[in-house]
Amino acid sequence: MTEDGAPRALLLSVDEVHHREARDLAPYAAHACDSEGRDHPAEPDRYRSAFQRDRDRIVHSRAFRRLAYKTQVFINDEGDLYRSRLTHTMELVQLARSAARRLRLNEDLVECVAMAHDLGHPPFGHRGEDMIDELMAEHGGFDHHHQALRIVEELEQRYPDYPGLNLTYEVRDCLAKLGCVTERGRVPRRYRREYGPLLEAQLVDEVDSIAYDCHDLDDGLRSGILRLDDLNELELWRGAWQQACDNAPRDCSDKILTDRAIHILLDAFITDLVEHSARLIGAAAPADLTAVRAADSALIAPSGSMRRAREELEQWMFRKLYRDWRVNRTFHKARRLLAELFAWFCAHPDTLTDEHQARTEAIGCERAVADYLAGMTDRFAQDEHARLLR
Ligand code: MG
Repeated sequence: MTEDGAPRALLLSVDEVHHREARDLAPYAAHACDSEGRDHPAEPDRYRSAFQRDRDRIVHSRAFRRLAYKTQVFINDEGDLYRSRLTHTMELVQLARSAARRLRLNEDLVECVAMAHDLGHPPFGHRGEDMIDELMAEHGGFDHHHQALRIVEELEQRYPDYPGLNLTYEVRDCLAKLGCVTERGRVPRRYRREYGPLLEAQLVDEVDSIAYDCHDLDDGLRSGILRLDDLNELELWRGAWQQACDNAPRDCSDKILTDRAIHILLDAFITDLVEHSARLIGAAAPADLTAVRAADSALIAPSGSMRRAREELEQWMFRKLYRDWRVNRTFHKARRLLAELFAWFCAHPDTLTDEHQARTEAIGCERAVADYLAGMTDRFAQDEHARLLR
């Protein structure tokens, strides 16, 4: 029996969680019981592994809740059916967990990294990020990957004794190394840039781009900016469309066929990624995490032919969607809004909230303003601009 009288045999314990990991995960996966731990030591949980606990800390963070009102491609007030950063994140979590399970990697770690991977995104998507980076050019720049780390290490305030979420080293190491398999110059030094990312980080990175390729295509078609006829320029799409038609009744609508074709593409991308990665891992045969970290090329990657087909799709999307005049219009407006808010707060730091004002001395006014702007949702940035500058 446990202390509160429940029959012990009926309850899952953290030892059992570790035992399942030892049984089910590959030796080169990250095992929670081997974690290098937290900056501020904490008692182990009774039934959650360290990574399961980190996932819960991320879900309960303020930055995670804000993802609901941040842009993926379409600004938050343009329609209720478009992806936000939050729904993008949840789609990624689900895809990445399934792929991790198949590759015998640590699903819980993958879930943590996927849930946190976009926490550092400012309002208005990549254009918002580019604008803040320009505004911060003389003060160290701005990068959403770094910002996600700043959030989990410093900006979230949930504990009385220290800043940040006090996540395990592995989760932070994965976040620090997203997008850095070979180019590790931007990995902060404390994350040992001489070592590469864990396979769990590599997987989240690859699945992230698969997720947005597919759902941006879906949202772009829904918006009317992308047109089905134009997509026929792409061999990849023609194949998926043909396959969708082959398996559908004659009177099937274009809307359903489009959904089916996008699903077929998504499935093909993920299957290719998992199978090609299994070949790469098999050839490199890493014995453990040390061997994974020492590898000088990616072990999670799509096949060459699929990479080329996806690059063609991405270039097409870039021309037809991300640089469409309607998308450009809203983003130029958003850039102006961010620039004006930045100038306002740098000139009047006494109008920053107490929390951000308190930080201006330690980290500089510009960085404190960038943190404040980056934390805003699309809607809040628009409201704040209307309150202060209209
Ligand atoms: Mg993403």
